Amino acid sequence: MSGIHPDDPDYKYLCVDRKALMQLQTVPFDGKKNCWVPDEKLGFVAAEIQSSKGDDITVKTVEKMDTKTVKKDDIQQMNPPKFEKIEDMANLTYLNEASVLHNLRTRYASGLIYTYSGLFCVVINPYRWLSIYTDSIIQKFKGKRRTEMPPHLFSVADNAYQFMLQDRENQSMLITGESGAGKTENTKKVIMYFAKVAASLGKKDKDDEDLPADGKKKCSLEDQIIQANPVLEAYGNAKTTRNNNSSRFGNLEDQIIQANPVLEAFGNAKTVRNNNSSRFGKFIRIHFGPTGKIAGADIETYLLEKSRVTFQQSAERDYHIFYMLLSNAFPKYHEMMLITPDPALFSFINQGALTVDGIDDVEEMKIADSSFDILGFTYEEKTSLYKCTASVMHMGEMKFKQRPREEQAEADGTADAEKAAFLLGVNSNDLLKSLLKPKIKVGSEVVTQGRTKEQVLYSVSAMAKSLYDRMFKWLVTRVNQTLDTKNKRNYFIGVLDIAGFEIFNYNTFEQLCINYTNERLQQFFNHHMFILEQEEYKKEGIQWEFIDFGMDLQACIDLIEKPMGILSILEEECMFPKADDKSFKDKLFANHLGKSPNFGKPGNASKGKGQSDFELHHYAGIVPYSTVAWLEKNKDPINETVVELLSHSKEHLVQTLFVQHKEAETTGTHKKKKSSAFQTISAVHKESLNKLMKNLYSTHPHFVRCIIPNELKQPGLIDAHLVLNQLQCNGVLEGIRICRKGFPNRIIYSEFKQRYSILAPNAIPQGFTDGKQVTEKVLLALQLDPAEYRLGTTKVFFKAGVLGMLEDMRDERL
Ligand code: ADP
Ligand code: MG
Repeated sequence: MSGIHPDDPDYKYLCVDRKALMQLQTVPFDGKKNCWVPDEKLGFVAAEIQSSKGDDITVKTVEKMDTKTVKKDDIQQMNPPKFEKIEDMANLTYLNEASVLHNLRTRYASGLIYTYSGLFCVVINPYRWLSIYTDSIIQKFKGKRRTEMPPHLFSVADNAYQFMLQDRENQSMLITGESGAGKTENTKKVIMYFAKVAASLGKKDKDDEDLPADGKKKCSLEDQIIQANPVLEAYGNAKTTRNNNSSRFGNLEDQIIQANPVLEAFGNAKTVRNNNSSRFGKFIRIHFGPTGKIAGADIETYLLEKSRVTFQQSAERDYHIFYMLLSNAFPKYHEMMLITPDPALFSFINQGALTVDGIDDVEEMKIADSSFDILGFTYEEKTSLYKCTASVMHMGEMKFKQRPREEQAEADGTADAEKAAFLLGVNSNDLLKSLLKPKIKVGSEVVTQGRTKEQVLYSVSAMAKSLYDRMFKWLVTRVNQTLDTKNKRNYFIGVLDIAGFEIFNYNTFEQLCINYTNERLQQFFNHHMFILEQEEYKKEGIQWEFIDFGMDLQACIDLIEKPMGILSILEEECMFPKADDKSFKDKLFANHLGKSPNFGKPGNASKGKGQSDFELHHYAGIVPYSTVAWLEKNKDPINETVVELLSHSKEHLVQTLFVQHKEAETTGTHKKKKSSAFQTISAVHKESLNKLMKNLYSTHPHFVRCIIPNELKQPGLIDAHLVLNQLQCNGVLEGIRICRKGFPNRIIYSEFKQRYSILAPNAIPQGFTDGKQVTEKVLLALQLDPAEYRLGTTKVFFKAGVLGMLEDMRDERL
């Protein structure tokens, strides 16, 4: 590691002390005997081969000294000790599950949470604070090559930055993993890194940038905001929790960082898995100007979990913002929101936990509130959001009763409806009427329709969810307005923080959307890897048809997204008034059973114990899905009368949220797009995913795979099967599989000559011979199958396993 010296105080947090490690190695290693065997609890354990009989191999485990017999295919080869805690697992002689697990596990035990596996940077959630994100460490990664420094997120980030400047190409960082794996924490660290690195750059070229040619001083972003919004000044100098004397408007780097607390307040919640779980995906693009300084940013979000607004499991919470608002951070807001500050009183948000370990709602509220200010939200914008959020809580308290002998409900007390209506800026009678007797169109006539109590309660919850979802989208748009500086943008680095592949016992519409997204992302990875390998082979002039492994995923993707695919059928059924879950399922089976190889009846192959209706063969495994409530989940079932009423609200924000913008006619074709109010969730998602993919394909990607070590949120504990399962789902093992199809090990000729000449000393001519010739002669003398290697211009390439064999032979000679 040339980029960091062993005497450096940060060295121990980042690197292995290889000398000490080798001294610990006392037992001699024998490549023919030492191996990995499967273990119920630990995944794999080290063992020594004792004897073999046909396919049965008898081994003795190293730790427990148990003797057992295993099938030959279940044994995995072990790498020699010099590979212990290796930084890039692509360099392992034996690339297999057992070795990958062992390497990650031993590094993790030493606090080394980042490890490379070829194109991937794998990170295991430490569940404790490590001194690896300090300013001093940031400075060390600045401008260094990947190979100069130990594996780290900052290295990936800095490399992306360097590639951007060098190659003049957009970059992306794809951070995936299951819930609780650390995606969002790593995303925050990346953003922080760029903010700090680019801010220090900024100082250097600030002077020449601030003075344009005409000599008139250009306004900084901060100045512009202040001047554009004189109203803000009135509120502009209150104390904030972070900074007591500054003007409350941040600079751009601050603002990008401050976008996070507000997004998390509205989009994160406590779940069983993660106390601060993001319930949406996001793609943050940081734009850089001509000098490499940050020029702006924008955020795109995906699939906010709407159901949580009105429903939570027993150990979970609703979105943080509800409890934050009810905390006593700002009592003045309680009056404005007409609430008694006790979450237990509101049935939409009191179904599970009310507080979270490690989260202080008072402190979080203060932070989010000041973030709004730094982001330049007006007092009115901010408080409108709070009021809308409070109206959701009041909605949950609205009571109804059924009129005797009538298919019609009526309000059972109006106090809560009045509060909700007041906060939403509409008349409470109108609100109740639109819920109890909505207008519907029958042919060309408009008639009112009676509603039962059950139907009304459903409408109230639909209204609450729709309002919240629209608020969240508006919030993102508003943040983007601030982060759009109109500065000149050259290139961007996009950071994607999105849920990884999910296989639960019960999988439904949400899992399909996520898994579909991951199929597309994995295809992107495979394709990228294919392109790179292809390039390398071409550059080295070797003969090999490398297959595009992106195509492996096409059948499944087609099955989901093509016309008459699963999502198209679903969308069609959503438009069809008489359709229900069963008609949807029937249509699926009629179109795909026996016709699409990736589609099947739920069978024994399924992991799912829960109820399921069909299964899909994804790259990461077979997933059984239930079709219950898909039609409803895919529609925004808010009734049109309510939308109409809210679109005429006296509250500016509410009006904005519900006015249905007819989207502009698409240029050229004059084809009218449907207003987004009529688009189903899947259609919107497909569209935004296509946009994301288009964006990603225009970038040089960097892949970060986050891994949750255990389900107990405990530091230091590795649940082997949980980790192996994630390595399967996140494509790390898939990456290794693809790698092995080609020539995964490669060595430059001079190195080969130095290390392996000893294997065939007689074959090498006397005097000086160049590396390539020596390599060729040695390989010929060993009578190696020519299919097992290729001679490139500067390197020799080997199929998986060959190098290990050469190593063994070398050990025997020495
Ligand atoms: P995800 O976004 O993948 O669901 P998070 O990023 O929210 O997961 O991480 C879950 C929790 O794990 C965090 O709240 C934090 O406590 C812990 N955590 C994750 N990554 C790190 C890290 N690099 N260092 C320390 N703690 C971490
Ligand atoms: Mg998250």
